[in-house]
Amino acid sequence: MTDGGRSWGPIGVDQWIQGAAALGLEQRGPQVWLVGPCPGCGHELARDITAAIGVGLVDGAALDRLSITCNCGQVHAGRAADARPAGCGAAGSVQIVTR
Ligand SMILES: [Zn+2]
Ligand SMILES: [Zn+2]
Repeated sequence: MTDGGRSWGPIGVDQWIQGAAALGLEQRGPQVWLVGPCPGCGHELARDITAAIGVGLVDGAALDRLSITCNCGQVHAGRAADARPAGCGAAGSVQIVTR
């Protein structure tokens, strides 16, 4: 396992915003997930945001920013064994815009 060259902990807002641009929405059956490389560690992160955005995506609807925390599940030095979510500690907000 790799720690992505990164110990557990938060990242700067600038780094989060840059990396978060690579995240995208993915429809998985009735659920909507936010998926993509974590801005902090680069591991695949996937959050079920169905409940957060409500039932059904409306064309052109823009939602408020959503708080996301890395849950890559990979090993990151310094993370408590029982830390949840089990990610690298990176967190920030993402603007959800449906198309
Ligand atoms: Zn990671
Ligand atoms: Zn991460």
